[in-house]
Amino acid sequence: MSDTSTAIVSLSLAEVRDRLARRELTAEQVTAACLDRITATEPAIAALLTNRGEVALAEARALDAAGPDPAKPLWGVPLTVKDALTTAGTRTTCGSRILGEFTPHYDAFAVARLREAGAVILGKTNMDEREAGAVILGKTNMDEFAMGSSTENSAFGPTRNPWNAARVPGGSSGGSAASVAAGQCFGSLGTDTGGSIRQPASLCGCVGLKPTYGRVSRFGLVAYGSSLDQIGPLTRTVEDAALLLSVIAGHDPRDATSADLPVDDYLGALAARKDLSGVRIGVPREFRGEGIDPEVSAACEGALDAAKALGASIVDVELPHTPYSIAAYYIIAPAEASSNLARFDGVRYGRRAESPRDLADLYVRSRAEGFGDEVQRRIMLGTYVLSSGYYDAYYRKAAQVRRLIREDYGKALARCDVLCGPASPVTAWGLGELTSDPLKMYMMDVFTLS
Ligand code: GLN
Repeated sequence: MSDTSTAIVSLSLAEVRDRLARRELTAEQVTAACLDRITATEPAIAALLTNRGEVALAEARALDAAGPDPAKPLWGVPLTVKDALTTAGTRTTCGSRILGEFTPHYDAFAVARLREAGAVILGKTNMDEREAGAVILGKTNMDEFAMGSSTENSAFGPTRNPWNAARVPGGSSGGSAASVAAGQCFGSLGTDTGGSIRQPASLCGCVGLKPTYGRVSRFGLVAYGSSLDQIGPLTRTVEDAALLLSVIAGHDPRDATSADLPVDDYLGALAARKDLSGVRIGVPREFRGEGIDPEVSAACEGALDAAKALGASIVDVELPHTPYSIAAYYIIAPAEASSNLARFDGVRYGRRAESPRDLADLYVRSRAEGFGDEVQRRIMLGTYVLSSGYYDAYYRKAAQVRRLIREDYGKALARCDVLCGPASPVTAWGLGELTSDPLKMYMMDVFTLS
């Protein structure tokens, strides 16, 4: 890579955006620098499933021809997007063979916001109004249907951690985290059901944010556990995460769970806060202690010390139902997944088995050929817990436990402003180390599921 390209990809999203706006850099230069970086790093990390390459460059040139626009907060900024979000005209696989050849004809709400995003004009939907002007470089690798914690469940092979290619990047948004950490782009969108943004961000050393449920529309997100799925940013700085969130947040009538609440000024709030005086940080007892890698504990204690030095006070709190979160999650999420994934039947879209004998054979073979092992495991689990006679014993019970977990959080947050703990109990583990033991892999989400 040239020195200029390296200098460009080392900038933060906010910095590159400012330089683009001042015309010190062109959208084409910045996009070309990212594509150079992709060429240099992809053989080692395999973060992308689709590289939009020339198409992205052409979009950048078109932006340059039109000139910077102060109304477009991401004008000319190259980003990547997890392959769980639909992109009009660009293949969207969700990491699965069953969608291997699927090209949607519409953008997900959050993707459209990146390209177009805007203030509300009455009589039109939220999407058409302000233009953010971002360039989508490519679609990132992921665990199939977002089921996993290491990006090894992708039908297209694993992504590797850019800091050490022998290790996993975390998952399921591991492609996004790796792409951001490797400097291929200035930010990425991931999705988080039980930790899939926060955990890979932690394992790759970048910033990952799961917004509150309802804050970002799920329109155009391939559904996994619908009552838990949220789209959010992965970036290299907190400011960049605030910037991306402010673009993708907002009400969307096409997602019935989207919150019709004003979007706060995240960047303004960040700029206004010079220290942490008056902030009470709650540290859950359950998030400290056994089962946590000493390196992870040390990093958390270091962060708490830094926060104290900035004026925060530390409050001990309890989340007593934490040990039940894995059990509750692995009933609720597979139950919802088994229902959501029923639509992949070989008839309407996605992979279709060759010359089926009859309709049942078409369903069975399309799904057996199209879904990987982990997805099949979850569909079976979900179908089982929802089946008549077992619903009360499993699904209803899990829903009750979820309520107790939620109450724990309410009580804890009555005593503090924020909670602090590790996103993952361990640092990045070796590729292939946990693939034979799904239960151990499930344990990696113990702090994010609840
Ligand atoms: N690792 C968890 C799972 O496998 C969470 C995944 C996610 O947040 N999408 O379900």
